[in-house]
Amino acid sequence: MEKRQLRIALAGNPNSGKTTIFNNMTGTRQKVGNWPGVTVEKKEGDIHKFGYDMKIIDLPGTYSLTPFSIEEIVARDFILDENPDVVIDIIDASNLERNLYLANQLRELDCKVIFALNMADVAKSRGFKIDAPKLSELLGVPVVFTVGNKNEGLDELLKTALELANSPLEIPEERRVRYSNDIESAIGELKDFIKLQVDSSFSYNIRWTAIKLLEDDKIIKDRIREKIGVQSQHILSKAEKLRGKLSKRLDDDPEIVMTDDRYGFIAGTIKEVISTSTRHRVDISRNIDLVLTNRFLGFPIFIFLIWAIFQTTFTLGAYPMEWLNTGVGYVSAFFEYVLPNSLLKDLIVDGIIAGVGSIIIFLPNILLLFFCIALFEDTGYMARAAFLMDKIMHLIGLHGKSFIPMLMGFGCSVPAIMATRSLESKKDRILTILITPFMSCSARLPVYIVLAGTFFAAHAGTVIFIIYLFGILMAIITGRLFRTVLLKGEDAPFVMELPPYRVPMMKNLLIHMWDRSKMFLRKMGGIILVGSVVIWVLSSFPKNIQYSKDYDAQIRSVNQSYEQQTISGKEDYDNRIIQQKDALIREISIAKEAERAEKSYIGRIGKAVEPLFEPIGIDWRGSVALLTGFVAKEIVVSTMGVLYAADDAAESDALQNALLKSGMTPLSALSMMIFVLLYIPCLATIGAITRETGSVKWTLFNIVFTTGVAWTMSFVVFQGGRLLGF
Ligand code: GDP
Ligand code: MG
Repeated sequence: MEKRQLRIALAGNPNSGKTTIFNNMTGTRQKVGNWPGVTVEKKEGDIHKFGYDMKIIDLPGTYSLTPFSIEEIVARDFILDENPDVVIDIIDASNLERNLYLANQLRELDCKVIFALNMADVAKSRGFKIDAPKLSELLGVPVVFTVGNKNEGLDELLKTALELANSPLEIPEERRVRYSNDIESAIGELKDFIKLQVDSSFSYNIRWTAIKLLEDDKIIKDRIREKIGVQSQHILSKAEKLRGKLSKRLDDDPEIVMTDDRYGFIAGTIKEVISTSTRHRVDISRNIDLVLTNRFLGFPIFIFLIWAIFQTTFTLGAYPMEWLNTGVGYVSAFFEYVLPNSLLKDLIVDGIIAGVGSIIIFLPNILLLFFCIALFEDTGYMARAAFLMDKIMHLIGLHGKSFIPMLMGFGCSVPAIMATRSLESKKDRILTILITPFMSCSARLPVYIVLAGTFFAAHAGTVIFIIYLFGILMAIITGRLFRTVLLKGEDAPFVMELPPYRVPMMKNLLIHMWDRSKMFLRKMGGIILVGSVVIWVLSSFPKNIQYSKDYDAQIRSVNQSYEQQTISGKEDYDNRIIQQKDALIREISIAKEAERAEKSYIGRIGKAVEPLFEPIGIDWRGSVALLTGFVAKEIVVSTMGVLYAADDAAESDALQNALLKSGMTPLSALSMMIFVLLYIPCLATIGAITRETGSVKWTLFNIVFTTGVAWTMSFVVFQGGRLLGF
């Protein structure tokens, strides 16, 4: 049933032209009085137009709906309690930023709102160009240009109001202001709590109510007490608790941070919808942004900062890494010394300490990387990075926002995949989750260091850099592919918040760093520990191996043949002879150990899957390493250590030497690195994908897809390289 009698309220900042528009709409049919109980002038006018009876109400001019002044209270109460059919927000278009604050509060109230961009003439003469359709799309609100004092656009404004009044429009979830994560989760929690306490007669929007309670809005608290009586106690005390927690976490009153967030949202909106402007606001964030998001400077600065992150992570991280390495060596030596020779000792020293130890040394790198990422986030630079990347990300059909998880993917895919929660659209989330694993995570780095270091010694750094770039390229290509084939649809436009720059607090940086690194440590104690033990078991059993040669006899005969030579008495000569002997014996032991490994369970598995990996230039040992990498990429290196270096794994360049002798070539090493880059990162990532997509199908798809891509790319590189004669 179409409504024929409507009430339309005009809201807006003082001097936005509200009264002018009101007068032009209503002409002489005005009633002037006071709002009940207060001496604030109230004007109403009844008009009949387009077949409707409309009552126009001129609300007091306000800058916000935070109930600090009597005008704000009157305006808000009217909207809350009188439920006008439509609220028209008269916006001074030449002052868009300041006016959008009230505008966004109106949107949050969940009333039907229209933006009238008044003073359109002034805005134009000052050189602002406002993209109204974009603004409308971004905020989910109809937008009309008006020039109040010339009566321009007013009919269109009314028509739009009529249309809106008769449509069930609601501002979609993803068009709302989104607050910082901590606040959003408090809002969510309180919202759910309120829902349980109230019934359908509760007339306020619940999200809005939760926001107001977290802001400690006294009036709303009173209203809730009046409306729902005793039940309100639970809600209010719950809100108080959440507020307390937030204050501690944020080190500031939540309402202050929320105001900042709203301004961030507005800054993002402004950047999207206003072009060519001569803005002359002096404001630190703005000035920093002039440089950091500059069309020409922004990008080089961004690349430089990323480079600086990696540089810091790896050069600074090298020191504690060295200490940890030494520490692990001591621990290993200690157990070697105190434990009697037994299977248990082998398990502890060769299985657990060697396995977990070879990975825990990367902890400093990972802590540093996460610290830098937290620094990016907490200063507000991350949002700018996303803003800069927006254009490039649109190539994949994604938003700049998706770049944040992808960037974090360089650290670890698990928190990166969790970070996709900040994306509003489900399709965007899935797409981002699917391509994030192509961003080379820190666990893969040790593999590159070993392989590139061995086979591309002088150019190792460049090769590793190219590998990283290749990962990014694959993410872009597959992203584009998924967008056109699987996850069709336009990327929904939305406002990218540009929060003000802030000096980060050490406490928060450390909390954020720790939140993410915990995952790494948990992985250490869980999957990697278990993985190391399993690999140790598979590689040390069965014990009774039939060797093809009698190695022990060979060693005995070497010993015997040298025994006679070393009685000459000349010390120099003796030493040389002993060295020769030791080298020979070592060669024999390594050959023995290699045969033992080949005949162990893990060797048999490797042999079984070898045909799959042969076309990409990887032998059975590499195959096993890749299989174990399925558990966690870090394990690839330790497995190679066990299988290639066989004996003497303690010697630092033993693995390098063994790899050089193993028949692996630079080309097959490259092929292996590409495989490691592209195939599914690890069990923990698989778990994260399942959790975040909520779908086993997408998870399986991702495993099969990434591994397929990995194999294909390695095949192309390896066979292509061979054709070219490498
Ligand atoms: P209110 O405080 O929001 O009620 O604003 P008023 O209606 O009193 O308008 C303030 C001033 O702006 C008046 O001098 C109007 O004539 C002028 N004004 C209103 N709309 C426009 C417009 O679209 N363009 C220009 N140039 N002036 C306007
Ligand atoms: Mg006025």
